[in-house]
Amino acid sequence: MAQIDVRQKLEILADAAKYDASCASSGTAKRDSAGQSKGIGSTEGMGICHAYAPDGRCISLLKILLTNACVFDCHYCINRKSSNVRRARFTAREVVDLTLAFYRRNYIEGLFLSSGIIRSSDYTMEQIVEVARSLREDHQFRGYIHLKTIPDADPALIEAAGRHADRVSINIELPTVAGLKRLAPEKSTARIEDAMAGMKASIEDGGDAMRRYRSAPRFAPAGQSTQMIVGADAASDRDIVGTASRLYDRFGLRRVYYSAFSPIPDASSVLPLRRPPLMREHRLYQADWMTRFYGFRAAEVAQATDEQGMLPLDIDPKLAWALQRREAFPVDVNRAPRELLLRVPGLGVKAVDGIIASRRWRRLSLADVGRLSRSIAKLRPFIVTSDWRPTALVDRIDLRTKLTEQLELFG
Ligand code: SF4
Repeated sequence: MAQIDVRQKLEILADAAKYDASCASSGTAKRDSAGQSKGIGSTEGMGICHAYAPDGRCISLLKILLTNACVFDCHYCINRKSSNVRRARFTAREVVDLTLAFYRRNYIEGLFLSSGIIRSSDYTMEQIVEVARSLREDHQFRGYIHLKTIPDADPALIEAAGRHADRVSINIELPTVAGLKRLAPEKSTARIEDAMAGMKASIEDGGDAMRRYRSAPRFAPAGQSTQMIVGADAASDRDIVGTASRLYDRFGLRRVYYSAFSPIPDASSVLPLRRPPLMREHRLYQADWMTRFYGFRAAEVAQATDEQGMLPLDIDPKLAWALQRREAFPVDVNRAPRELLLRVPGLGVKAVDGIIASRRWRRLSLADVGRLSRSIAKLRPFIVTSDWRPTALVDRIDLRTKLTEQLELFG
């Protein structure tokens, strides 16, 4: 590897880290004030991303790889062994120094560290753990640390990562076993899931110990998360929602992140040539929300998919589900229990809590519900209020078209 300075390494390794969705801030237009253009600031700089701390605060993290060199050859990855990219590698000490320098200047509140695999999974994991250990023990660093762990590494090393990090993640990578076999033949779903199971047990033990003894050491208090690549293989949305739900249930994950596959330079011929629509990723996050906060089971979300198992792109999955299950509506907002209100398209958790609090004092009208929700157009066919009942609206064959038109009209 050619000798390059830390700034050049940062450029390469922050750019390489942007493919990890686990703490991504996306959707920003490209703007730059460098050179001849006017103004100040740039949205193109790499290296700082935003994530949410366990208490809900938005925090900025230095997001980098330890190295983008890798001995594995996962087809979908720009850093794979056979990829023709410029390589760089930080030492553990360099990452520690950079983190502290950025932290002292108030640029960041923490570190997100991942890595390609150098020499072996254990060696790489040792380096990652050494960064977190040194920050915590040598420098008393109290900021947020999110470490990507390598499932093939010695469980003792993964455990050590959990002792120093706030959050750890182990990527499942692809939604199906067959997809992983085809696109990342050196990885194994069984080994990934074993590592997740080990992490879950350690997080639970750590939580128990903290409840009993105030001085017990913290163990990954922000839990574990994972990431799935969407659109690199033939897995349908139904498969993806099913896999995510199983992972939440079995391993107590805090989050599953969905990352729309993006074609990479010098791509392997087994990959699709085009990325899936970004809206697909968005719909999957909405479906994920349905299972985590609205009480839907994965099998119910699957009712919103078409014959190919895909969620519609033009309407959100909760509305698609309601259109399929019209017999469950309308729901009387003045009487229905919380779990039924959460199933109404257009009513989020905050709106439902607002309805439940307000109806203690009076019967709610359509206008009252309109003030608590964002989209009365979406709601009207599905609710009953003191002054509104959708006569046969829910039975209309053209309800989907009507709603789509109205939602477009009201933006
Ligand atoms: S192991 Fe990770 S870094 Fe290496 S090729 Fe696979 S996905 Fe990329």
